[in-house]
Amino acid sequence: MYANRIALSFEAGHRLLNYRGKCEAPHGHTFQAEIFLSSDKISEMGFLVDFVELKARLGEWIDDNWDHGFLANDQDEELIGALESLKERKLFVFQGQNPTVEVMAKYLYEQVRQLYGELVSRVRIWESPSQYAEYSEG
Ligand SMILES: [Zn+2]
Repeated sequence: MYANRIALSFEAGHRLLNYRGKCEAPHGHTFQAEIFLSSDKISEMGFLVDFVELKARLGEWIDDNWDHGFLANDQDEELIGALESLKERKLFVFQGQNPTVEVMAKYLYEQVRQLYGELVSRVRIWESPSQYAEYSEG
C-alpha cells in the first residue's frame, strides 16, 4: 500500500456547551488537520494524489469554513447570539454537537471523502501539540 499524509494548520475559537471546566469559556487554538490517504495504486504520474491539488482544495475548504472562525454547537444560543451581534464574524455551527476535535475530525473526514472518496483513510485534528482526535471508518 502507498500512503500519503498532508497537514494544514488553522486558527479557530470554540467552547464546549454544558461542560464544567476550562473549555466552557470561549477560547481559541491553533489547530492542525492531518489527512491520511492510502491506496494500492498510483497514477501514471506516480502519485497517490497530487499534493498540490489536495493542499489547494483542503486549504480552500478550511479557509472558507473554519480558519479565523468560531465553531459552535447549534444549541449554544448564548454564544451564537453574542457572535451574531458583531458586524464582523465567522461562525460555523455543528448540529446538536459540541465543537470538539472528535466532532471536527469526523466532519472534515466527510468533506474530504466527498473529494477523494475511499482514498481517504483517516483524519486527525490536533488542538495542541500534545492532543489530537482522529476519525476513520476502520
Ligand atoms: Zn478548546
